[in-house]
Amino acid sequence: DTIGANLDRAVARWPEREALVDVPSGRRWTYARFGADVEELAQALAAAGVAKGDRVGIWAVNCPEWVLVQYATARIGAIMVNINPAYRTHEVEYVLRQAGISLLFASPRHKTSDYRAMVEQVRGNCPELREAVYIGDPSWAELLGRGTGDAPYEELSCDDPINIEYTSGTTGFPKGATLSHHNILNNGYFVGESVGYSEQDRICIPVPFYHCFGMVMGNLAATSHGACMVIPAPSFEPRATLEAVQRERCTSLYGVPTMFIAELNLPDFASYDLSTLRTGIMAGSPCPVEVMKRVVAEMHMAEVAICYGMTETSPVSLQTRRDDDLEHRTATVGRVLPHLEVKVVDPDTGVTRPRGTAGELCTRGYSVMLGYWDEPEKTAEAVDAGRWMHTGDLAVMRDDGYVEIVGRIKDMIIRGGENIYPREVEEFLYAHPKIRDVQVVGVPHERYGEEVLACVIPRDVAGPPTLAELRDFCQDRLAHYKIPTRLRVLEAFPMTVSGKVRKVELREKYGTPDT
Ligand code: ATP
Ligand code: MG
Repeated sequence: DTIGANLDRAVARWPEREALVDVPSGRRWTYARFGADVEELAQALAAAGVAKGDRVGIWAVNCPEWVLVQYATARIGAIMVNINPAYRTHEVEYVLRQAGISLLFASPRHKTSDYRAMVEQVRGNCPELREAVYIGDPSWAELLGRGTGDAPYEELSCDDPINIEYTSGTTGFPKGATLSHHNILNNGYFVGESVGYSEQDRICIPVPFYHCFGMVMGNLAATSHGACMVIPAPSFEPRATLEAVQRERCTSLYGVPTMFIAELNLPDFASYDLSTLRTGIMAGSPCPVEVMKRVVAEMHMAEVAICYGMTETSPVSLQTRRDDDLEHRTATVGRVLPHLEVKVVDPDTGVTRPRGTAGELCTRGYSVMLGYWDEPEKTAEAVDAGRWMHTGDLAVMRDDGYVEIVGRIKDMIIRGGENIYPREVEEFLYAHPKIRDVQVVGVPHERYGEEVLACVIPRDVAGPPTLAELRDFCQDRLAHYKIPTRLRVLEAFPMTVSGKVRKVELREKYGTPDT
């Protein structure tokens, strides 16, 4: 199916059910109205000369128009290019040029970001950019006014590229994964099926739409099952998120672990009525066990799913199931989704490793991207001749098919020949009473090659732990080589917009002994 055909089916089946709610502005769409507005925008794009295969950029924070652009571009077969709202002129110019974007949708401004001013600044350097349309601005209404209502659409195939999504940039510069209708629509559908969505569900989506977590696991999972998308705020705010769950009686809540941590740590957390929640999805990075316990017990998300995925695989390939126990939901990222394959291989030889041993996780099936946009060499490094996507993540497959993510190959610390997985040390330190959040990275060391640095956000600013205290805490409970030899106390970690810690930046900033 194409995304447009799939939406038509939802509109026909659930015309009066709610499709989209924007809490900040109070605007609401039923499926019938949503379908009509998508059609209106698609017609306007066609009238503006946007054809199948043309690149249409969207550089905006979460808002209903983001979702309309997503479906309208899919309807006419244009390739939507998601642009990270945290980008500044240098980065947006790179994407506008790299993807050859001809029409750009943008938020006029948000908080301290003046998107309009930045677009005007780089416009002269982007010869292919014909037009910029600002959301909620006269230029949006003007674009809609151009539609004639009867422009014919080109014939689409579900294997056509429909979307370029940039990766989070956790390990370096983001790469533009090019995805088809088939890639992302199926993934959204199967993620939704695995969580058990129906037209009764209302999904609170505080994660950015620009990232696949929002636009595929959120929007496409919702519309392919008749569920409702609820936007709590333009960008993540813990309080607005819980208010939206309460006010809109949401049944499902999304977030990366750091978002759930921020919500649980609100001083008035207990005053929100979250009893309508049944499920949700936590993904993107490993979840500390203590956090998962509180999410299940205090947020009522008894069925919360852990998903593992990456932008290049549309994104999800592994997911826990509704009735999995807490152990499987914290120690593993679930098992493979229907119609996909995963394997764990020796990263050097590519030979499959026996169950129970760590190796590089590889994924194959409908969800594997068409390739990185205009970067065939990088594509060839990531996707092999057998169409296996090499994830760069270390994993162990258990006998029951559940997979544990051990860490990223790039993050693994090698100290004096011993392999250390930061995740294991982080999980351990997380239990320390003075620690609110912790990241462990390897930093250069003359003799051992690397040593272990713990970056700690204290629970109480007045009393951060000392290195000696940390080492005492680990003594006799962790092997000596895993015990941190250096400590940094921080107020916050450098993050990507998708909510992940940029370990690469921690290493760069604090890697030298005198910093
Ligand atoms: P870049 O590729 O640009 O460095 P990125 O890999 O963070 O950034 P994404 O595609 O957003 O970009 O994230 C995919 C990665 O996130 C996976 O490769 C994996 O390392 C991590 N990840 C995703 N889900 C989980 C999870 N449930 N548990 C642990 N790690 C996860
Ligand atoms: Mg990646």
